[in-house]
Amino acid sequence: MFSFTRLVLLVTLAVSASASCIHNTSLMRRQIAEEGTVEVSTFGYTGSKGPLLWATLEAENELCRTGKVQSPINLDDTISKATEAPVVAFNNVEEAEFENLGTTLEVLATGVTTFAGKEFTLAQFHMHTPSEHRIAEEYFPLEIHMVHEAADGSIAVIALPFQLTEDNSTLELLTAVTENIEAIRVPGTVGRTGALDFTEITEIIQTTPLFQYTGSLTTPPCAEGLTFLVLEQPLPLNVATYNKIKSIIKFNARYTQNTSGQDNFLAAATVFANEQDGVSQSQSCDCGPGGENPAPTSPAQPPVEDKATTGAHEPAPTGANNHENIPAAEACAMQCKGKRWVPDAFL
Ligand SMILES: [Zn+2]
Repeated sequence: MFSFTRLVLLVTLAVSASASCIHNTSLMRRQIAEEGTVEVSTFGYTGSKGPLLWATLEAENELCRTGKVQSPINLDDTISKATEAPVVAFNNVEEAEFENLGTTLEVLATGVTTFAGKEFTLAQFHMHTPSEHRIAEEYFPLEIHMVHEAADGSIAVIALPFQLTEDNSTLELLTAVTENIEAIRVPGTVGRTGALDFTEITEIIQTTPLFQYTGSLTTPPCAEGLTFLVLEQPLPLNVATYNKIKSIIKFNARYTQNTSGQDNFLAAATVFANEQDGVSQSQSCDCGPGGENPAPTSPAQPPVEDKATTGAHEPAPTGANNHENIPAAEACAMQCKGKRWVPDAFL
C-alpha cells in the first residue's frame, strides 16, 4: 500500500515524465488522450531535447546529470548474473494495443514475473533502436524493455537485446508485434498487434543467463533503484523487421552511463570543462552553504598583461571557451549550481 507521501512523490514524477520507460506504471500513468491517440513525449534524443540536456527540461530530471547509479551501462565481467531465474507468466492475447509515443513504440501487455521473492506486474514492453545496453562494449540493433512494477512501487525491467540473423530468422513474437506496424508510423497514433504468444520468450527468459544490476530509468526523470535483468544472449532479428522498426523509431538510445557509483559523466564533464576554462571549482568561488550567494573569492579573471609595456601584439583572445570573457559573478553563480557558463549566443 502506498503512503500519502509516496503518492505525492509519484504524482509529481508523473507530471514531468511524459512517455518514458516508466509509461503505464504508477510512476507515470497513461495519459488520457483522444480516442485512438496517445500523448507523445516532451523529451527526445537529439539537440536541445536530447539526453545531454534532459536535466534542463524539468527540475525533476536532475538525476539525469547527477545520478551515480544510472542506466544504460556496458555489461561486462564485473556485472553479476542473476543467481535465480525469474518465474515468468505473461498473458497470451489475440491482439494488444500498440502505441507510437514519439520516443518509442510500446505494447500494452500483461502478466506477472516473480523474482527475488517479489511479484512484479508487467505494465508494457517497448523498443529501443539501437540497443541501450552494451555487452562487452558491443551494441545491438534492437533492445526490448519489459517494464514491471511491484505492489510496493519497485520496478524491474527485463531487457532483451536482439542480433541480426543471416538465415532471416526472427523471434516469432516480434513478427506478431510488428504485423500492423505501418498503422502507427505517426507519433501519437495507436494500433493493434497481431496475436501475441509469449511461450517461446518465457522459456528463454527462464533458462538463459541474465545480467542483474541496479540502475535507473533510461529516460527522464532518470529515477534510480530499478532492477535490470538483461538477457546475455541476444535474440534473433531479421533485417526486414529491424528496418521497419527502425524507420519509425529512428533513434532512441541514451548514451552509455558511468560505472555504477562513480561520478555522473555530465557532472564530471562540467568540472572538467570549468577547469579547462581556467575557472577552478574550488579556488575561484565561494559557493556558501548550499551554494547560495556565490561570490568570487579572488578575481575570476586573471590580470591581463599590459600589452603596451610587454610589446605583445597578438589580438586579445575571444571565443566561448576563454575564461577572460566570463563575468566573474556569473561564472561563480554557474559554478555553484554545478553548471558551465555558456555565453548567450550559444543557448
Ligand atoms: Zn526503455
